[in-house]
Amino acid sequence: MRETRVWRALLGLENTVVEGVEFDDDAGVIVVHARPTASRRDRCGTCRRRSPRFDHGDGRRRWRALDLGSVQAFVEADAPRVTCRRHGVTVASVPWARHDAGHTRDFDDTVAWLATVTSKTAVTRLMRVAWRTVGSIVARVWADTGGAVDRLEGLARIGIDEISYRRGQRYLTVVVDHDSGRLVWAAPGNSAATLRSFFDALGETRSAAITHVSADGADWIAVVVAERIPQAVVCADAFHVVQWATAALDQVRIEAWRTARAAARSEPRPRRGPRTANSPKRPASDLANGIKRSRYALWKNPEDLTERQHAKLA
Ligand SMILES: [Zn+2]
Repeated sequence: MRETRVWRALLGLENTVVEGVEFDDDAGVIVVHARPTASRRDRCGTCRRRSPRFDHGDGRRRWRALDLGSVQAFVEADAPRVTCRRHGVTVASVPWARHDAGHTRDFDDTVAWLATVTSKTAVTRLMRVAWRTVGSIVARVWADTGGAVDRLEGLARIGIDEISYRRGQRYLTVVVDHDSGRLVWAAPGNSAATLRSFFDALGETRSAAITHVSADGADWIAVVVAERIPQAVVCADAFHVVQWATAALDQVRIEAWRTARAAARSEPRPRRGPRTANSPKRPASDLANGIKRSRYALWKNPEDLTERQHAKLA
């Protein structure tokens, strides 16, 4: 096997001629010098139509490729410009990268996949890229593959929610598919008009196929759901049920504490004198304190309580 074929295979370079490989001492990276094969040369970066050469562009360019072991690797090549009949003067396409990308296709695909299965920290550390870069890579890969996927197809059980960002100043309305667990739609805003645009995109036939919908108690969601998918069973989502129950439990606990405190105040004060271990206790006051500190015990399932919490609640 010739050496250049090994490099081509290592970096996933199809339709590419490898001219040479060097170790860049200054940057501590491997640089593979390459050019597209004759049939792939001088093609429009957008439509890949063969087009006349315009100029040399900005000269040599580097594309980040997947690391080789722990060493970063780059593909370096000329980046001439061509004149496309439809797209005008544009940088010629290269077989190893998407148009306007600074990374190879394999690098893009790996980052996009990692972004869907791991954390922000894991992707940026492992691939040694900024989070902003991950965003543009995901957008690029989606533009390339997303057209073939219809995320609104086959929806039956959906969840509608609003999320706030910029400290509650801006909102996004999001729709998830409960069967696949995926986010299927999102748009800026949290109003009936925002949600109506989702059902417009879904269309009448697919709207009629929705059987269940979960949402928080927001009126604007309830109104649009009743209007567009009256057949669907409306469910409260688990997150909000827990939130509501916790708030209700807190309210009851505070009321009980206030009652106990009032009872403690109306109790006769113990006789004056130095307080000793044998001083008479004030049961109502102890009760009030106990209730005040029972918040976490009340949240737990009975079987998960510690012995002390059991005693407290008793
Ligand atoms: Zn073109």
